[in-house]
Amino acid sequence: MKKTVPLLLPFAAATLLGACASRPVESPTRLYVFDCGNIESRDVSLFSPGVDEGQKKQLTDSCYLIKHAKGTLFWDTGLSDSLTAEGIEVWDGAFHLSVDHPLKAQLDEIGVDPATIDYLGISHFHSDHTGNANYFTQSQLIIQKEEKEAAFGPDAEKFGFVPDSYAKLDPKKMRVIEGDFDVFGDGSVVIKRAVGHTPGHQVLWVNLKQSGPLLLSGDLYHFTKNRTFKRVPAFNFDKEQTLTAMDQIEAFIKESGSTLWIQHDKEQNATIRHSPAFYE
Ligand SMILES: [Zn+2]
Repeated sequence: MKKTVPLLLPFAAATLLGACASRPVESPTRLYVFDCGNIESRDVSLFSPGVDEGQKKQLTDSCYLIKHAKGTLFWDTGLSDSLTAEGIEVWDGAFHLSVDHPLKAQLDEIGVDPATIDYLGISHFHSDHTGNANYFTQSQLIIQKEEKEAAFGPDAEKFGFVPDSYAKLDPKKMRVIEGDFDVFGDGSVVIKRAVGHTPGHQVLWVNLKQSGPLLLSGDLYHFTKNRTFKRVPAFNFDKEQTLTAMDQIEAFIKESGSTLWIQHDKEQNATIRHSPAFYE
């Protein structure tokens, strides 16, 4: 009897090790949501011409991190951490912008160094989306051709962009696209072209195992009421393109059964878990 023990134990151990080694260890894709600032609009009719004139509205600003088995993608970089909770007035007082929780501190809290992020996706280059872009100098930026030409061309300010906010991004590192783009090659994280708000505006679709398919809006809409009534902000680059993009994205949402998260919608955002919690 005693002789069989040394023979059996190594066999059992080898079997167990073999079983572990052959089992896939990929963790499911995770989505983190960050609070990337506050926007007070002093006249919400800027977003919905002729409607609710002179009414104030509070908007939020959101950023997202996607951790996929094949890498990491950061989506939108919010208002600059330098704005602080006191904030600033912009557009002759049309907006007040402030940041209660710096993005850098939120990333520190979950042990993420922005210099380690593989890909950066920015829905469009308005400064409430590029505020902290300069943290991501090591990432490959994925950008629509028209947005690149506008943001890195001589007339960037005419499009409402603030080039200093993304000046450290290296144009040689960019991946320039003209359409939809499957970020990790397995169809689970897809940048979708949705132009009109700016020349190369895009949205992000993330298909999570437990939470299901989510679509991050960029500024296709700024709040739910504008989605309901298909209203186009006065400052959009192209109204017709925007309406076409709304139709295309709505059809995609329907067919894929996705939930739309409107990135600036303060009321909807209050119902969404924020980092350090996450969605899988
Ligand atoms: Zn915005």
